[in-house]
Amino acid sequence: MRNSELFQKNDEEENMASIMCKIDDKHVPLYRVMWIGDLPHFCGHEDCEREGQYEIRLEQDESIWAGREDRDRMLDALQQWQGGIGSPDEWN
Ligand SMILES: [Zn+2]
Repeated sequence: MRNSELFQKNDEEENMASIMCKIDDKHVPLYRVMWIGDLPHFCGHEDCEREGQYEIRLEQDESIWAGREDRDRMLDALQQWQGGIGSPDEWN
């Protein structure tokens, strides 16, 4: 019983990964992402809490902030997800 419960849980998490990407403690739907910063934030403020983090811009003027690993995972997830839209034929 325990094994099959575990298997089901993993299965759900894999499905979620296809349209959601976890950043920090948030599952972010990929379709809400407008753009992702290519360079880490730097504004020069001594008390800045975002320095070295990458901005992930969402719809409706929201932003979340990700470390480099999370940013790269988000980029990968977006690329895989976009690859699933339409077929390559549409580019001809
Ligand atoms: Zn700053």
